[in-house]
Amino acid sequence: MTLHTIDNFIGGRLTPPANGSYFDGTDPATGAVYSRVADSADQDVAQAVVAAQNGFAAWSSTPARERANILLRLADLIGRNAKELAEAESIDSGKPVALAASVDIPRAQANFEFFATAILHESQGAWATDSRALNFELRQPLGVVACISPWNLPLYLVTWKLAPALAAGNSVIAKPSEVTPMTAHLLGELCNEAGLPAGALNIVHGLGAKAGAAIVEHPDIQAISFTGGTATGAAIARTAAPMFKKLTLELGGKNPNVIFADCDYDRMLDTTVRSSFSNQGQICLCGSRILVEESLYSRFIADFTERTAALVVGDPLEEGTDVGAVVSEQHFDKIMGHIEGARADGGRIVTGGRRAIVGGRCEDGWFIEPTVITDLDASCAANQEEIFGPVVTVGTFQTDEEALTLANGTEYGLASSIWTSDISRAHHMAAGIDAGVVWVNTWMLRDLRTPFGGVKSSGIGREGGFAALEFFTSQKSVTIEL
Ligand code: NDP
Repeated sequence: MTLHTIDNFIGGRLTPPANGSYFDGTDPATGAVYSRVADSADQDVAQAVVAAQNGFAAWSSTPARERANILLRLADLIGRNAKELAEAESIDSGKPVALAASVDIPRAQANFEFFATAILHESQGAWATDSRALNFELRQPLGVVACISPWNLPLYLVTWKLAPALAAGNSVIAKPSEVTPMTAHLLGELCNEAGLPAGALNIVHGLGAKAGAAIVEHPDIQAISFTGGTATGAAIARTAAPMFKKLTLELGGKNPNVIFADCDYDRMLDTTVRSSFSNQGQICLCGSRILVEESLYSRFIADFTERTAALVVGDPLEEGTDVGAVVSEQHFDKIMGHIEGARADGGRIVTGGRRAIVGGRCEDGWFIEPTVITDLDASCAANQEEIFGPVVTVGTFQTDEEALTLANGTEYGLASSIWTSDISRAHHMAAGIDAGVVWVNTWMLRDLRTPFGGVKSSGIGREGGFAALEFFTSQKSVTIEL
């Protein structure tokens, strides 16, 4: 396998880290080292900030129509390079290449398309104070902003942040996850090809605790858009809040999937298998706590177990693989620890629960059998803590109110799904659930115009649509006395 060198992308050029230090990037499906990744520190972040500051004047004063054209060219280039990007994403993260090709890469393209065109249609408020004054909102780019993203949907999530930040005219410092740097690395090259001016986007690779922390601490970075774990989000807020940086935090989840006996059963079953195990359960929106109305419970467990056991765990690069590798050895150990903990808490593992053995080139990869656990108390760790792997718990309820109490019984509030054919019940549940996102009879269906974000320990702020453009701009109020 070719060993790739992943350098920082600063001022439009690939730039080695100032200290010359690199760490290994590993393919989780094989355990093989396939890249050396810049182990950046303060100096690299400082260099990226200077490049971003230098690039800001030109980029922020580029007319919106021209910014849109450049971002649309970038979207087009993502589409043209989709195969290479999907393979890179699969090797980086262990996800099935078919998933990367059908979800991650098209969505990265759509992110740029959406925000490139959104800036041509946004409007700002104006208010007349009788005939005395005219007041209006003036939106301007913030300057240098940072986008820090996780490993589970690498290109999808980094572009979800970059696209509005750039579209609004900011210069950006992006820090992808240390374990999945490859697609962001390729994106840098595409930005040059699309004609993005030097310094508008700068990508700093490295460890969260070092490169990430240096970004958060840098006084000249005006805003941070972060997606990742709740503990990391809290650490970032502790540093950024006293510096009065603008902050949006998209954090962890423990999403309930509430299934009523009156639902469209076949549709629910298909979607629930997907919402449980897509991307090895490593999507912040995966339903990890399935709650089933008591009268449907036995039928559901039998069918769901059968469907789960039939999922093909295999080489991510092969068509036909449903479940690939989890992202790293460290994450594998964490998930297996949760499964053992659930067993110790009295859980019954109805399918899965072990390391999955995938032969051939994947002999040493980090694969886990899709796992379904029942008979657990709602307060136990497996029902309270984010596992972020191919592991779901299934519990039961009798009344709508009990379903709501269970659904809301964690510190998290990111997403939820409700399955019912009763429209009144759907309304009641949607209003009662403490979650930023509620799906009724579906999962992960998103219109990019809709604001997105969690409540409680799942975060603050909203991304998506015009909310993201608002985040990445100042809203100055201007009053002119007539
Ligand atoms: P982490 O919080 O570990 O990391 C996220 C990003 O932050 C990475 O780039 C990481 O770098 C960086 N980072 C880590 N420590 C710091 C620090 N002190 N200062 C600045 N940056 C830092 O999350 P994971 O990568 O493990 O991602 C999984 C988590 O993301 C899950 O909890 C999941 O629920 C959540 N998530 C939330 C989503 C949402 O929309 N709410 C969507 C997708 C995921 P490095 O990788 O080098 O550590």
